[in-house]
Amino acid sequence: MKRPCVFLDRDGVINVAPPEGEYITRWEDFRFIPETVDWIRLFKALGYLVIVVTNQRAVARGLLPAADLEELHRRMREALAEKGAPVDDVYCCPHEEGTCSCRKPQPGLVLEAVRKWGIDLGASILIGDSMRDRELAKGLGITYIEVREGRIVEVQPGR
Ligand SMILES: [Mg+2]
Ligand SMILES: [Zn+2]
Repeated sequence: MKRPCVFLDRDGVINVAPPEGEYITRWEDFRFIPETVDWIRLFKALGYLVIVVTNQRAVARGLLPAADLEELHRRMREALAEKGAPVDDVYCCPHEEGTCSCRKPQPGLVLEAVRKWGIDLGASILIGDSMRDRELAKGLGITYIEVREGRIVEVQPGR
């Protein structure tokens, strides 16, 4: 039986986004957006998979060692689980623009998750805060929810 999934962007959705052109490279700089943590608890109670899909080209730019990013995500998942809001998986594009098929708005991360988790894509949604997230959802034909500081600012229905 296929399961519906809520795909979550990371920066600006799960945690406060860094200033334009900057990256979160240390756990000490990671600040949760509490509304989103509550939503994750709700989605889990409803039986949804919750999967993070995030672009982190700081890795390709040599600003963030891949091992440090992994550790950041390990701590994020641990902290979320402690808050009763566990995420099922984290998919990350560490590549530079134009060098891969997974940097959002390309669908690589979502398609990989769909294969691994047996996701019912048509029943899934994406929550994000950027044009890249919006375009990704549009390309996949799924509902997109735009958020800003923990509030929903727009819902773009899927097909
Ligand atoms: Mg974002
Ligand atoms: Zn990539």
